[in-house]
Amino acid sequence: MADGVITSEGEAETGGDGLRGLTYPLGPPPAPGEAIQAAPGVLWLRLPLPMQLNHINVYAIEDGDGWAVVDTGIRTPDSIAGWEAALTGPLAGKPITRVICTHMHPDHIGLAGWLCERFDAPLLMTQLEYVTGRMLSAETGTAPEAGAIFWRAGGWSEPQIERYRQSYGMFAKGMTAMPAGYQRIREGQVLSIGGEDWTIVIGNGHSPEHACLWRKSDDIFISGDQILPRISSNISVWPTEPLSDPLDDWMTSLDRLGDLLPADLLVLPGHGEPFTGVLPRIEALKRGHAVALKRLERTLREPKRAVDVFASLFARPVGDGILGMATGEAIAHLNYLAGQGRARRERDADGVDWWSLTATKDPA
Ligand SMILES: [Zn+2]
Repeated sequence: MADGVITSEGEAETGGDGLRGLTYPLGPPPAPGEAIQAAPGVLWLRLPLPMQLNHINVYAIEDGDGWAVVDTGIRTPDSIAGWEAALTGPLAGKPITRVICTHMHPDHIGLAGWLCERFDAPLLMTQLEYVTGRMLSAETGTAPEAGAIFWRAGGWSEPQIERYRQSYGMFAKGMTAMPAGYQRIREGQVLSIGGEDWTIVIGNGHSPEHACLWRKSDDIFISGDQILPRISSNISVWPTEPLSDPLDDWMTSLDRLGDLLPADLLVLPGHGEPFTGVLPRIEALKRGHAVALKRLERTLREPKRAVDVFASLFARPVGDGILGMATGEAIAHLNYLAGQGRARRERDADGVDWWSLTATKDPA
């Protein structure tokens, strides 16, 4: 799956949430098909995911005679059953008026096409998320050689590359066909939903143009995967853009959000429970990456492949199920060091990239 979240060393360190200034005022999550009122006019619902990260939160906002929903769950029979139960249960049989997707990963957009078609509702997304989602959902059929070259450079074995070829097209399988058109939302835009103003706030790095929704009147912030409690968002380089530096985008976004957001927001995240303490959380996420980068620099005293540096980044072993995300996240940290002139890569005759420090002196 293109989306997912790896618990890295950095945030394992921030696990003691109470001590770190986070609270979870809404308590335990709603059962599938049920809802908890997260704020006036805003319901918190949860759908299952068939992955290590086993759930996603979706939110329904009262919108006149119906509901504007934020994110949709991945395309599985269990998600559809969850929606059916919610629609007749807490959503009281009222229609969905708009489908807003924070970003294009299948756990967020997987059922957007299904919901939009069923209710003849528009899809609202940022431009880069919509276009990238359409692009990735068209990746079916035979895996491109560029993908094999990318993963080989990261240090994958031939059997691992073969598994990549076999599983190519997984992104499209996680979603119903995206609507052929959409309504663009953009930074700073104010959406009126049920008579309340929600301001769009954009972040980058986890996905190209991720939208958050902020109701300033009572400081409710639907954060998608841009700010999560407990776990950090996956920041990965993918074969479509091997030299990208999404971690730089991510760190820049965290700085910006830290400056922009007030301390007393209630954050409604895509995964985990709604929480307060957004500013300490942002600081902890930044610190997590800084610590990971420092450990990474230490391990690059000897030349390493991307697959050799997992231990310096992740708190737990990397199995085959998350090998792509882990390798992508390792390359994101390596490309970030390269962008700062702190590391460089050299491709050997077998097409494998070996990373080493540019500086001769030991990093602190
Ligand atoms: Zn997600």
